[in-house]
Amino acid sequence: MISNNPLSQYFRQPAIYIKLPSQGNYYPPGALEMPTNSELPVLPMTAIDEITYRTPDALFSGQAVINVIQSCVPNIKDAWAIPSIDIDTILVAIRIASYGHEMQFATQCPKCTTTDEYGVDLRTVIDKIKAPDYSEGIKQGDIEIYFKPMTYKNLSDNNKIQFHEQRIFQAIPTDGEVDTKQSAAMSQALKKMTEMTVMALSQSIQMIKTPQAMVSEPEYISEFMKNCDRGLFNRIQDYVIEHKTQAEMQPVNIKCGSCENEYKQNITLDMTSFFGRAS
Ligand SMILES: [Zn+2]
Repeated sequence: MISNNPLSQYFRQPAIYIKLPSQGNYYPPGALEMPTNSELPVLPMTAIDEITYRTPDALFSGQAVINVIQSCVPNIKDAWAIPSIDIDTILVAIRIASYGHEMQFATQCPKCTTTDEYGVDLRTVIDKIKAPDYSEGIKQGDIEIYFKPMTYKNLSDNNKIQFHEQRIFQAIPTDGEVDTKQSAAMSQALKKMTEMTVMALSQSIQMIKTPQAMVSEPEYISEFMKNCDRGLFNRIQDYVIEHKTQAEMQPVNIKCGSCENEYKQNITLDMTSFFGRAS
C-alpha cells in the first residue's frame, strides 16, 4: 500500500470477523498475527483475488488459495502453515465476506433421483464447525502418541499425489485385459498411495512419548509408522480421520420435496459453489 493515499479509506473493509477453531495454536512463529480479542477481520475478495481463484492451474498448486487467504485475512501471514482444522472456517468466511451468507446448491434425492435446489446459511455452517480436541493421545503399552492437525501445505501436497495416482487407475480399462505394463503401473500407484497414507499420518503426529524419550523428529516418526504393527497403525488412522472430520463442514439435512425421503448432503466449497451467482 502506498502511504498517504487519500483513497485508502475507500478500500475494501472487513465484512466479518471470525474466531479460528485452532484458537491460533499450531501456527509457527510469524505465520499469524492474533488480535487481542482473537477475532480476525475478513475482507471481501478483490477482482484480482477472484481471477486468481478461477485459474485452474493456480488452484491445483494450492497457490491460488494461499494468495486469496493472505489477501482477505491479512492477519494470516503464511497461509501454507494454516492447520487443517482452520481451513473450512477461513474459506467459508471469505465466501460470506465476498458474496453474502446465502449459498445455493443443487442436490439429488438418492431414492427418487429428483433434483432440487436448496439454500444454506453459511453462518450456521461456520457455527457448526467444531474444534477437535487433540489434548488426549493414544496409549499403547508404555508409549503415548500425541497428535496435531496437518498444515495446509501437507494437505495440498497429499492431494496432488492422490490426484496423480488416481489418474493412473482411471486410465486402466475396467473390462479389458490388463497387460503387464499396466499392472506394473497399478502396483506402483498403489505403493505411492500407501506411502502417502503413512506420510499423512506421520504429519499428524506431534510427539511419541516412550519411557526413555520424547520423540518429535519427523524422520523417526515416519520410520515408526512404517514399522509399527497394523493394530496400532489402524488406531492412529482412526484417530486422525475422526479428528479431521470434526473440523470440516457438516452435511446438511435434506428432506426431498417429492418423496419426503430424508438424507444428508455434503456441501463443499469447490470452484462451482464457491462463487456466488453474479450479483
Ligand atoms: Zn426423493
